[in-house]
Amino acid sequence: MDNKTTLGFLKQVDFLKSLPGLDSLSANCKERFLPKEEFLFKEGQTGDAMYIITSGNLEVFKENRVIAHRTTGEYLGEMALLGNKIRSASVKATTDVKAIEIHEKYFLEFLSINPKAFLPLFQTLAGRWKEDLQKIDSDNLELKNQIKLNQRFSRLLDDTVNEIFILEQDTYQITQANSKASQNLGYTLTELTSTYFNEVFQDLPWDELNEKFQNLIDKSLAQVSFENQNKRKDGSTYPVEVRIQYLHIEDPPLIYAIVEDISDKKAMEAHIKELAFYDSLTHLPNRNLIKDRFDIMLARAQRSNTKVAILSMDLDNFKVVNDSLGHEAGDQFLVQLADRFEGTLRKEDTFGRLGGDDFVILLHNIKDEYFPTKMAQRVINLMKEPMELQGKKFHSSFSIGIALFPSDGEDIETLFKNSDIAMYQAKESGGNSYRMYESSMHEKIISRLTLEQELWRAVKNKEFELHYQPKVNLSTDKVEGLEALIRWNHPDGKKVGPDVFIPIAEESRLIHKIWDWTFQVACGQIQEWCHKYGEAVKIGINLSGRQFELPDLVEQVKNVITTEGIHPKYLEIEVTETAVMSNVQVAIDILEQFRELGVQISIDDFGSGYTSLGYLKKLPIDTLKIDHSFIRDCTDNSNLAIIQGIITISQKMGFKTIAEGVETQEQHDFLKNLECDQFQGYLCSKALPAQEIEHLIWPGQGK
Ligand code: C2E
Ligand code: CA
Ligand code: CA
Repeated sequence: MDNKTTLGFLKQVDFLKSLPGLDSLSANCKERFLPKEEFLFKEGQTGDAMYIITSGNLEVFKENRVIAHRTTGEYLGEMALLGNKIRSASVKATTDVKAIEIHEKYFLEFLSINPKAFLPLFQTLAGRWKEDLQKIDSDNLELKNQIKLNQRFSRLLDDTVNEIFILEQDTYQITQANSKASQNLGYTLTELTSTYFNEVFQDLPWDELNEKFQNLIDKSLAQVSFENQNKRKDGSTYPVEVRIQYLHIEDPPLIYAIVEDISDKKAMEAHIKELAFYDSLTHLPNRNLIKDRFDIMLARAQRSNTKVAILSMDLDNFKVVNDSLGHEAGDQFLVQLADRFEGTLRKEDTFGRLGGDDFVILLHNIKDEYFPTKMAQRVINLMKEPMELQGKKFHSSFSIGIALFPSDGEDIETLFKNSDIAMYQAKESGGNSYRMYESSMHEKIISRLTLEQELWRAVKNKEFELHYQPKVNLSTDKVEGLEALIRWNHPDGKKVGPDVFIPIAEESRLIHKIWDWTFQVACGQIQEWCHKYGEAVKIGINLSGRQFELPDLVEQVKNVITTEGIHPKYLEIEVTETAVMSNVQVAIDILEQFRELGVQISIDDFGSGYTSLGYLKKLPIDTLKIDHSFIRDCTDNSNLAIIQGIITISQKMGFKTIAEGVETQEQHDFLKNLECDQFQGYLCSKALPAQEIEHLIWPGQGK
């Protein structure tokens, strides 16, 4: 195209026609050819040129709506010349098109040498701009809004968390569904529209669905809702809540169903239920659920005249697991234990955890009167296999108490209390056993509680006294030592021996107070004798296993020794084999510290517990005290073997041996023959008050 023709076209453009210097611009214009259907530019694109159509037609559209047509002599894209580079509409050729392209760069050059051109340009453009906008507004606003609304609405339907179905009136075939429905069910929308509504449920026959619809059809209900299970294309299911409505206004009436996936809600409900009724660690029924079920069982048993049993179960050495392996191992232990019980009980019975190491079994509708004890025995057998914790085998057992409805109580509280009492009895007899509740147990517990109260008073009022029993050399029959044994001068004159009250004291802090008192008195006695006779006799003081728990035990002993100014050679600690073995590491540590102070160590009741030879080597020991049970019938072959064994081991290890509970000359001679070092027992003397013992050791002496 020559310059003249171009100039001619430029002069057709309203904002250019009156401007000078158009020749120079026309020299820089380019010719563009655009085939039919091609876009000149698209809405949103950046552009930096305008076009004057020299032949052909184009249409202008926004958001798929044609808003204008342009033909030969008209122009497009002029906004680009003013730096408004984002195209506000799309332009497509509807015929083959030729056009002159004026590039922004050349236009701006033109403008710079024709500054006056700016004003008319701006006026024209602004005017046209407004015109265009008005046109767009009036023509399309309504439609645009409508489209927008529709789009928004269908997007909402698709985005909604609920599945929406529109159903065919007679067959309940799905005619329309939203994309949530297709997503949830795993069908395509097309597949869904050839499906009957009842088919998306796991179990909802057409008849049943139809029945639900009747209330809607006869308008007796405005809405029908129910819970069900949706079935996905792959066969898996999920819980849903279905709401169906009829829109009678439409003809035929429109039926639509809104289906909500309630998996989360159900999971939350289950979780809340789990929290409220199940133990979070073992997932066993918790106290709440146990009580609930017990309530139901009792009500049923009352109506049908049947029996219910409650088994209270407490682990015998759970504390050891926790203390030695840590709480995490303790938790692991409880979980393993719960697993072990799976399948042990009848379905309708209950195995639950009350907390800590307290478990419970509820048995109902008991026909066989031995069933509860058989169950208890089954529990005991179940515990025979050791648990495996942190790669180590660990033995544990239950103490079980059984109470029966209605004979041992008619309400939950009484039955719980009485099964607990029976359980304590089982525990007291050494654990790993069960006891049926007996009414005498109740009295026993009461008298025990009374005794504990009295003991507190006894400690406060110093109602105790120490007696001393001689330890005699078997070859020379000379008294070489004493054992301090506590006596309770009960103000009522009641005779309560230490074998009764010491175990009670051990269950509370009382034992520590008793130890403080005993140790102080024994040390005082040593000091007194040293003062009186220039020497004393070694005194053995009994240390309870519970004392190992005291962090400053050794420190305290050291303090008393120093303040009383006594020689530690006069002191011996007697601690039972069982106490040492139930907490071996701590025991070794503490006993070694005693040894370092110069205090001697005696292992009491030796042979009645279980000590591995490996440990015996590690323990800092001076003396083994052979348990009196072997001495009583020492001529019995098996006892003889044991006594002989203990003495041999003791000699090999370099310990001394003492036999306790020696009552007869025969026992004395027998032990002497076996080369036992010392004896203690009524044969020489029972434990006596200090003054009487004094006469025995230092007859006729005293300063
Ligand atoms: P144990 O340490 O084994 O004490 C020996 C028990 O046997 C004492 O009973 C003693 O009186 C008794 N006994 C002594 N010789 C004979 C005998 O020839 N035949 C018979 N059948 N028995 C004899 P006791 O004094 O009743 O003490 C019982 C247990 O109470 C003691 O057993 C000890 O474990 C504990 N105990 C006594 N005093 C104390 C104390 O001050 N502190 C602590 N922690 N425990 C003590
Ligand atoms: Ca003792
Ligand atoms: Ca003993």
